[in-house]
Amino acid sequence: MAGIYVHIPFCRQKCTYCDFHFSTSRKSDKDMVDAMLIELKQRVSYLKHQGQIETVYFGGGTPSLLSVELLGQLVTKIQELYPLSDKIEFTIEANPDDLTKSKLEQLWELGFNRLSIGIQSFDEEVLNWMNRSHSSKQASNCVGLAQQVGFKNISADLIYGLPSPYNRNWQANLSQLFELSIQHFSAYCLTVEPNTSLWHSVNKGIIKPLAEEHASVQFNQLMDHAADHGFEHYEISNFSLPNLASKHNSNYWNGIPYLGIGPSAHSFNGSTRSWNISNNAQYIAGQISGSPNFDFEKLSHWDLYNEHVMIGLRRSLGINKCEIVDRFGLEYWQHAESALEIHLKQGLINLQNGVATLTQDGKHLADKIASDLFAT
Ligand code: SF4
Repeated sequence: MAGIYVHIPFCRQKCTYCDFHFSTSRKSDKDMVDAMLIELKQRVSYLKHQGQIETVYFGGGTPSLLSVELLGQLVTKIQELYPLSDKIEFTIEANPDDLTKSKLEQLWELGFNRLSIGIQSFDEEVLNWMNRSHSSKQASNCVGLAQQVGFKNISADLIYGLPSPYNRNWQANLSQLFELSIQHFSAYCLTVEPNTSLWHSVNKGIIKPLAEEHASVQFNQLMDHAADHGFEHYEISNFSLPNLASKHNSNYWNGIPYLGIGPSAHSFNGSTRSWNISNNAQYIAGQISGSPNFDFEKLSHWDLYNEHVMIGLRRSLGINKCEIVDRFGLEYWQHAESALEIHLKQGLINLQNGVATLTQDGKHLADKIASDLFAT
């Protein structure tokens, strides 16, 4: 069962740390949606042999910024052209300042049944420093409103590992999050991405990134609080109540094909990855002229194995011998097993019945351990 990702490349303002593709100019909202409607039609055969569509995800940018009328045009086109499952997970990313009761009701009526809300922090000063467009109060209120409207699958994003003096109140943030009675959350350690405002501040010495050991303490607190509240840690940055893991992301991680619509959106058909140009004007011009601007790469056997290991170790499912032998061959498992030895000795990996998973300590080093298993 495949998925569709729709990238809405607009934001109200630029967050300090963000390097996603978006524009704060809203002049091309309508042209953008017209171009995306063309792409939805042109690429209908991309998922032709994949059966029903199990997940649709509107991400960004800030999809909730778009008018309900324009969102409705995209939803209707997807419903018209693609075979959607009755049990579809239909997610929209939203910022708290967009989620009025009436907007939530309209999103619900359009068919969205899952919200992913960018809360990031409940600390007002931190939100200001991040240049978020919403207040802490709006974050708490919008979840209650969404629940009144009928949303029963709500996720929130939080960021930890903030530099001094904003590196505070992490446990209070977590407590506030759990008070909201949501079903899922994602927590990301702040990273300094090139050319962001945060990156410039770090380069100028205005901000000093938090030392790794302090971020590790917060990660441990996160894992402990999540477990105390019944959340499963199903991927390094993702936590859900039982049976409420994000189907969309899980499908990505299971290597299931997906179609990406909109500027910068990626698509994957099992062996080739393609991505649209990260430029709004050029994306629109390409779709309208019938010469879409995109690039692609054919993934080698090694690329696919490396991705499998990287994603697998980040998940609670881990990596397993049978699957690696089946998909890639025995020599790949032998390579992985020998690279795992040192991590086993250091207590960073559990290896039982051919299944390797990270221990609590290993979760702090997931990407490093995975890279040790890479084939070259
Ligand atoms: S709202 Fe989201 S996508 Fe937009 S700038 Fe902020 S973090 Fe980036």
